[in-house]
Amino acid sequence: MTKQQAKTVLVTGGAGYIGSELVRILLEDQFRVVVLDNLSFGGESLLSFWGNPAFRFIKGDLRNDDDIRTALNGVDYVCHLAAIVGEPPCKKYPVLALEVNWHASVRLYELCEEAGIERFVFASTCSNYGKMAVADALLDETAELNPISLYSETKVNFEKYLLKQRNSTITRTILRFSTVYGISPRPRFDLTVNEFTRDAALGKPLLIYGENFWRPYCHVSDLARSVKIALMADHEKVDGEAFNVGDTSQNYTKKMLAAEIGKAIPSLKVNYHPVVTDPRDYKVNCDKIKNILGFTISKTVPNGITEIASLFREQVISEPMNARYGNI
Ligand code: NAD
Repeated sequence: MTKQQAKTVLVTGGAGYIGSELVRILLEDQFRVVVLDNLSFGGESLLSFWGNPAFRFIKGDLRNDDDIRTALNGVDYVCHLAAIVGEPPCKKYPVLALEVNWHASVRLYELCEEAGIERFVFASTCSNYGKMAVADALLDETAELNPISLYSETKVNFEKYLLKQRNSTITRTILRFSTVYGISPRPRFDLTVNEFTRDAALGKPLLIYGENFWRPYCHVSDLARSVKIALMADHEKVDGEAFNVGDTSQNYTKKMLAAEIGKAIPSLKVNYHPVVTDPRDYKVNCDKIKNILGFTISKTVPNGITEIASLFREQVISEPMNARYGNI
């Protein structure tokens, strides 16, 4: 076991889609892991870790100082993933979104300082870029952030807060995740690749809005690995730095995604809707994380589509868990 791997990592939101995959790979790599999660939509993702002496679960809320203090007990590193995730839930529950994504996140950081935490990795999002200023530009981390939803506003504000903590003793790293796809211990089917592939595999025609808008994508296992790499990197390489995380070579429009799904599921039918409901339109460049941290993806979008399609075809999954924020 390396010195790094003897560390204890708190994963906030560890019961979620990305968090549960991160917990899985951290435990596999001999880290000790603590999860703080209020189980907004079920904790089945954590069952496979139950009984592992390196795993501890705190059912608690990020908005509660006592829950955070309990979770931070004995912890070295923090990966902050808990959030009200995505534009629709933030729009539907704006107060909650501000409380969790902004106020509670700042409070978490303050309590991390009190607790002497060494590293803090924040799960941000490429949707902070909003829209390409110049058509077809590949946006790197120096591009202007242009949040066009409450969700990305909260993410940008917390990024700015973290970057201002220059006198902090904590190594602060921001990872701007691409839109995620793939199967984790707690998969989400409200994300484009997963949703489209599931519907196509179930024989439903796709109805696509904004077919020509660009977006970067990343498999959930690659994203989780990027968090682990950031946690283990030299302080000088990651402190006060933001990294785009995604496919270094390929961004996709929804029309391109449909074409890829059609290769795996030839019976696919697609209808394009003329009304555009999603104004996000950006392509990102992920060279920084490749050049500085040596991170490259191991799975492509076509790999992910094949993986999801075969799970439905073989009926490993028949009724996906899709009810998000039903019980808040
Ligand atoms: P998710 O919704 O599956 O997981 C979030 C977890 O946070 C859930 O388990 C939920 O129960 C927990 N949580 C919510 N509010 C909480 C609170 N008040 N206290 C404690 N726990 C709470 O989301 P995800 O897709 O795994 O996303 C994880 C992180 O990655 C988020 O910060 C998100 O903004 C970011 N991100 C995700 C994507 C994506 O495409 N999925 C893209 C970019 C960034």
